[in-house]
Amino acid sequence: MIPLVDLKAQYESIKDEILPAVAAVFESTQFVLGEAVARFENAFASYCQVEHAIGVNSGTSALHLALESCGIGDGDEVITTPFTFIATTAAIRYTGARPVFVDIDPQSYTIDVNQIEAAITERTKAIIPVHLYGQMADMDPILGIAERHGLVVIEDACQAHGAEYKGRRAGSLGHLGCFSFYPGKNLGAYGEGGLITTNDPEHNKHLRLMRDWGQSQKYHHTLPGFNYRMDGVQGAVLDVKLRHLEEWTEARRRHAARYTELLSPLDIPTPVESPGNRHVYHVYTVRVPQRESFFEPMKEAGISIGIHYPIPVHLQKIHADLGHKAGDFPDSEQVANEVLSLPIFPELTEENIRHVTGTFSSVMESVRAG
Ligand SMILES: *Cc1c(COP(=O)(O)O)cnc(C)c1O
Repeated sequence: MIPLVDLKAQYESIKDEILPAVAAVFESTQFVLGEAVARFENAFASYCQVEHAIGVNSGTSALHLALESCGIGDGDEVITTPFTFIATTAAIRYTGARPVFVDIDPQSYTIDVNQIEAAITERTKAIIPVHLYGQMADMDPILGIAERHGLVVIEDACQAHGAEYKGRRAGSLGHLGCFSFYPGKNLGAYGEGGLITTNDPEHNKHLRLMRDWGQSQKYHHTLPGFNYRMDGVQGAVLDVKLRHLEEWTEARRRHAARYTELLSPLDIPTPVESPGNRHVYHVYTVRVPQRESFFEPMKEAGISIGIHYPIPVHLQKIHADLGHKAGDFPDSEQVANEVLSLPIFPELTEENIRHVTGTFSSVMESVRAG
C-alpha cells in the first residue's frame, strides 16, 4: 500500500536522533514548555525569518491565540476563504467574531485578492489568508489592502512550513503567522503542536502570557489565558526534525515535478506554482471530473488518495447560521467537487510515482472512453 503520508518511513530514518532527544526531556522532567521548546522556538523563528516564535499545543490554538492577541471578538468580522480546513473558521468563531468569506482564485486555490475589498465593512478587523496545500497566498496585494483599511493580517501557514513568496518565508509577512505541527504536516510533531510567528514584541509578550493562563508570575493572572502550552517532548522532536525540513521539502518538490511531468499527457489541472513562489507541496492535488470513478481502482492498485476538502466551509452544517447557500462561492464549490490528492511525502520513490501515475492514467483513459 502506498499511503498518502508515510510517517513510519520517516521515523525509521531519524530514530537515532529522536530517541536520545526525547530521553533527555524525560530525564529533565520538563514535560511542558522548558528548554527543548525554547530551543525549537529559536530555531523555527530563524527558519521563518522572524523575531519571535511562540510554541503552542496545536495550529487551531495558534489561530485562536493570534486572534485574541489582536483583541478580536464579538461583533467583529474576519475575512478568509471558504476553501480551507474547518480549523480556520472554528478559531474565528471561538472569539465570537464572524467569518466573512471571499472566494478563491481557481488556479492557486488561495484567496482571490480582487474580491477582498468588496467584503470589507466597518466591522472588519482582520484578514486570514490560507496558504493552502503549501503555496502562499498573493501577499503583496493583501498587505496593501490591510494597510489601507487598518486591518491585521494573520497568515494561516498550517500547511506551508518553509513556503516562500518573493523570497520571504511563510509566517514572516503578516502581523502574525500560525503553524500546525499535526503529525501529517510537512513538519509534524509526535502528537499535537502549533506555533505563532511575529516580529512584534508586544504580541510576543501577550502570546507567551496567554498560552500559559495569562500569568505574569505564578498565580498572578493579568490577561485572559488558556492552557495552550507546547509539550517538552514535542519541542524536542520538532527541533530534531526541523534540521531535516529543507531536505524533505526539496524531495517533495522533486516528487511534485515528476508527478506533473508524468501526468502532463492527460491534460488535466495539476498544481501551478505561482511566479515568485516556493510551493512546499503539503498535498499534491489534481482536478478531475467524475472523481468517484477513481476511488475503487486506485484502492485496488494499493494507492491511497485523499480529498482536501470535499465540502467548502461555508456549506458546513456548523456554519448554517451564517446563512450561506450553494452558489455563493462558485470557484470554491467547483474545486471542492473535483480535487483529488495523490500520495506525497519525502520518502516516496520513483517506482511509487510511476505506479501512481500509471494507474491514474489508465483510470482516466477508461473514464474518458465512457
Ligand atoms: C492543520 C490545519 C489547521 C489546524 O491545525 P491543528 O494543529 O490540526 O489544530 C488550521 N488550518 C489549516 C489550513 C490546516 O491545514
